[in-house]
Amino acid sequence: MKIGLVAIAGVKLQTRKFIDLGITLPQFVNRGRVIAQLPSLALLTIAGATPEGVELEYVEVDDVASFAAKPTLDFDFVALSTYTARAFDAYLVADAYRARGVPVVFGGLHATVLPEEAALHADAVVAGEAETVWPEVVRDFQRGGRSRLKRIYREPAPGRLRLDAAPLPRFDLLAAPAAASADIDPRATGQLNRLGPYNRITVQTTRGCPLDCEFCAASRLYGGYRVKPVERVLEEIDAIRALWRRPFIEFADDNTFVNKRWAKLLLRELAPRRIRYFTESDVSIADDDELLDLLYPSGCRQILVGFESPRLASLDGLDRVNWKAGRLPQYVDAIEKIQSRGVSVCGCFIVGLDSDTPDIFDEIREFVERSGLLEVQVTILTPFPGTRLYDRLAREGRLLYPGAWDRCTLFDVNFRPRGMSVEELEEGVMRLWRDTWNAEQFAARKRRYRDIMRNLHGRRSEAESEEYFALPAAV
Ligand code: SF4
Repeated sequence: MKIGLVAIAGVKLQTRKFIDLGITLPQFVNRGRVIAQLPSLALLTIAGATPEGVELEYVEVDDVASFAAKPTLDFDFVALSTYTARAFDAYLVADAYRARGVPVVFGGLHATVLPEEAALHADAVVAGEAETVWPEVVRDFQRGGRSRLKRIYREPAPGRLRLDAAPLPRFDLLAAPAAASADIDPRATGQLNRLGPYNRITVQTTRGCPLDCEFCAASRLYGGYRVKPVERVLEEIDAIRALWRRPFIEFADDNTFVNKRWAKLLLRELAPRRIRYFTESDVSIADDDELLDLLYPSGCRQILVGFESPRLASLDGLDRVNWKAGRLPQYVDAIEKIQSRGVSVCGCFIVGLDSDTPDIFDEIREFVERSGLLEVQVTILTPFPGTRLYDRLAREGRLLYPGAWDRCTLFDVNFRPRGMSVEELEEGVMRLWRDTWNAEQFAARKRRYRDIMRNLHGRRSEAESEEYFALPAAV
């Protein structure tokens, strides 16, 4: 039996003026490329949970229309995973397979939130953390084909999967030679060449987040915060190192360093492995000097921190216990402490929060300048299905395009803001993108990074800086 693991890659903006602006801003284009080049860890993980003896092939689809016109067909069934913004594209691919008699099983975050919708395009849907039920899906298919599949498979105890029981993802599938059907040119059909397109390989070390921000699905869908035992993380890292000489790894975590004791153990073990990695954390990482000192030697080169806003009123009520609002006075110091260790901070800000007024854009720009952030990401508040935000905006009648999942890109407006018009939000965020992602800012950040490295590494700093600039996370 052969299963096709099909991932829909990349992000597609919907707002014309944003697309036009994006292609003129070097960092906008770079970021799009970085996201498009991330492999689907969900599919590699279920590959690791697949019973022995089943052949697997991992396929990425970017140009959906071309691929759907002529999909790779030598599969007994196909497992599809996508995120909300590409759900419609995933449905197109699923429909194309099913029209040709190939059964489809849907999984992933979007299918977990809206299993009934996904079921309209699939023979079976896996809702929740797929590792637990995937072997059952495969066995059902082996026993009775399409007719034996259940319509919806739900994990028995949501959020309870212990990460020491999580399977080792099949990273080797990424390194396998492209093996599309002989009569199909992978490039012509939109499949990416799988021999070398990845700029980062993803590893999950923790799952969920103890904070509960209104706009975020992480804590709501994944239950409690869980860490993977250090030896299990190292097993995955070593599997990757066996395939790639000096990989750049992205920890596919929502909030890595919540458990500081575990984090220190992990970082000490990572140091001799000579990887470089990117991860995400809340700002509390800056509370612990010992942990900060371990970051660079462990290979950490960039940390993404969701600051969300420099305005207290906009942070107020964002998470259930107002944790982020309480942390605002420490933001600038925290950035300085992390970056002084040679680890760049990618500060994330969200515009369109309920207390945001048209002057928020200047406020964020001033904060970015004052804080010396080496990397900035500004996104638009997005009501994803399954979040408390979505439910509230729906109740308040503020969703502009209910069900238009292709607008859930973080870069398109799909709700009515409270403190400004849609037009003001779109114009303001474009101005901010121009101000923070232009070539001049890019050069200034590079200079700042070189200065930090000179302080840290003296004569070695030039080589260390150049190595950093070559990474996809670079300023
Ligand atoms: S801190 Fe980040 S990961 Fe955690 S709930 Fe908030 S947005 Fe989600």
